[in-house]
Amino acid sequence: MTPLSEVILRLAELGRTRLRRLLAQAKHCPNPECGHSNLEFKYSEDVVWVACIDCGFSGPKGANSDEALKLWDTLVREGKDTTTIPHTVD
Ligand SMILES: [Zn+2]
Repeated sequence: MTPLSEVILRLAELGRTRLRRLLAQAKHCPNPECGHSNLEFKYSEDVVWVACIDCGFSGPKGANSDEALKLWDTLVREGKDTTTIPHTVD
């Protein structure tokens, strides 16, 4: 193995570790019937988004993984934070 390919492999590994760490901090899946934390980053053209591996729920698309994660965390989740869910009384 040449030193250069070794460096490239290292960088790729660092990138994956960073993304895993980002996902570990992410909030759980907003799907009330799921709620799992089995998440992954999805990529298409020049957008990134967070998706739930278990139920396939896709979060809002961002320009990079940090933005995608921020948008994912803003999604309303049932349960813990009920103040963000509007209650209407007829
Ligand atoms: Zn899910």
